[in-house]
Amino acid sequence: MKVAIVEDEQKLASLLTDYLLEEGYETTHYTDGTAALEALQQDPPDLILLDLMLPGTDGMTICREIRKTSAVPIIMMTARVEEIDRLLGLEIGADDYICKPYSPRELVARTKAVLRRTQPSQSPSTIGFELVEHEAMVKLNTRSCELTQVELGLLKTMMAHPGRIYNRQQLIDRIYSDNRVVSDRTVDSHVKKLRQKLKQLDNDAEYIHSVYGIGYKFEENT
Ligand code: CA
Repeated sequence: MKVAIVEDEQKLASLLTDYLLEEGYETTHYTDGTAALEALQQDPPDLILLDLMLPGTDGMTICREIRKTSAVPIIMMTARVEEIDRLLGLEIGADDYICKPYSPRELVARTKAVLRRTQPSQSPSTIGFELVEHEAMVKLNTRSCELTQVELGLLKTMMAHPGRIYNRQQLIDRIYSDNRVVSDRTVDSHVKKLRQKLKQLDNDAEYIHSVYGIGYKFEENT
């Protein structure tokens, strides 16, 4: 597995490199944002560790640009807690984040976790749900369940990117085309009902997970 580190702090980057090499990853390192973006597009790694503040092109722009053409897992490294919602959102599209200062050990653990959940075995097709949109139904093996349009929208949105965290506003934006005002509690109650329905199809697994302080994600049991 090849991990690209985009980080302009030389010391931090070489520390990370050491830890990743020790875990058996191959690494590449870039200090300049513009050079990084070009190289990452030409020769995509298996995962990108991306600093937010960089000389040249900044981390957000890099992430947004890469997302236009690639689903490569991206972990953002940031000291700005208030940006996290946006980073993980649809606009920027990072898979995870870690707040600076962090321990390299923790970042390696996060890298492993993100790689694990973004491997093909975690894709929705192997989870096995089938959405029949014109009938507003979800099927799993021989069982099926009717959904409301809102539940269908929620499931479709989250299933498209297993493991990606959506905040409530992002879900609202995706589900309702009119700009209606919908409370967080309304979203929570739709999610709750959707969960109950998925339970009818598979009582042994949990597919929709709450992420404390942020929102929800679709993922099998992890
Ligand atoms: Ca930096």
